[in-house]
Amino acid sequence: MTDSRAIFCLECGSENVTEEVSEVTANVRGRTVVLPADRHMRCGACGSISHPGKMADQHLEAIGERIREEDGLLSVADLKEIRTRYGLQQEEMEALIGTGPKTWVRWERGRVVPSPQSDKVIRRIAEDPRYLLQLMEEKGVSNETALGVIEEACEREVRTHSDAFRASPAPERQPVEVIVSSVLGRGSEVRKRLFDVRKAYVDIDATIARHKERVPVDVEGLARDLGISIARDTRMTMGSSGSITRETRPTGAAGFLISVNGREHPHRQRFTIAHEVAHYVMHRDRIGNGITEPVLNRNLDGQDPIEREANAMAAELLMPENSLREAFAETNDAAELARRFKVSHESMGWRLFGLGLTKVRPRQN
Ligand SMILES: [Zn+2]
Ligand SMILES: [Zn+2]
Repeated sequence: MTDSRAIFCLECGSENVTEEVSEVTANVRGRTVVLPADRHMRCGACGSISHPGKMADQHLEAIGERIREEDGLLSVADLKEIRTRYGLQQEEMEALIGTGPKTWVRWERGRVVPSPQSDKVIRRIAEDPRYLLQLMEEKGVSNETALGVIEEACEREVRTHSDAFRASPAPERQPVEVIVSSVLGRGSEVRKRLFDVRKAYVDIDATIARHKERVPVDVEGLARDLGISIARDTRMTMGSSGSITRETRPTGAAGFLISVNGREHPHRQRFTIAHEVAHYVMHRDRIGNGITEPVLNRNLDGQDPIEREANAMAAELLMPENSLREAFAETNDAAELARRFKVSHESMGWRLFGLGLTKVRPRQN
């Protein structure tokens, strides 16, 4: 100790106080922490120890380090690395984790230790950029640097997974790892939403079965859960209902993008999505770079066999036979059924006819 101030014991007033390094047991919020080599002043008269000046900081930092070690918490260096990796400010971290002001500063100084719950949140932020994005939206934290880092990470991940996914043969019956992405909006929102990506183990059959349980079937959700991206195109010619194309720069693991003519009636759009999903499930190894659909017919006649197959599957996706028969037992009003299943009257007409629930053959238009 180079301090020239007269040092005396705060307990007994003795000036017989000397610096030493020895094991000390500290009590921190009801917890006993052993520090094997603690630097402190010890009173020769009464034996009490104290941590004047810088010793107090070192003592608190050592306690923090010990607790982090014992509890397997992130180190001070980890905390700083995770925060700066995303270009986030300390106050922003506090807002994201929901702790009081100045908390993060203390954590990074090492004198205060995050709770195990906070530690878990910080680890998730480190491991999962999409979780960070979700937190940023929830807590109203906007940081362009962080958004850029998140976007890059997601893009990298999508590329890796879609390469692997596309190398797998179709149709896929085994659970495969896919990335699910969505393009939900247009304009500036697209950039942020584009990489709303999550990883999941998806069994195509099981995913379809799960979605068919709820009427009206969320066909867009189904496509996304299968790793197919969807874009609504409001400038598409009215001569086309939509398309499914192989993406050169995949935004989903499926590596396919369904474009829907946003100017068609929402019910027709649903049919188009279902039809394209059907192409993906049944024909994705046969459609080359994709298929652009002329305005889709809902019937099963004529046409290319691939188109007939896709229409049949689309009808079953949107109007699952079991659910439709159940609903038909309540009402045979085709208009009411079309409303319940969110399909066009035309589609419902063909479906009822196809299942033999009506003898009325819909008019061809
Ligand atoms: Zn003393
Ligand atoms: Zn088609």
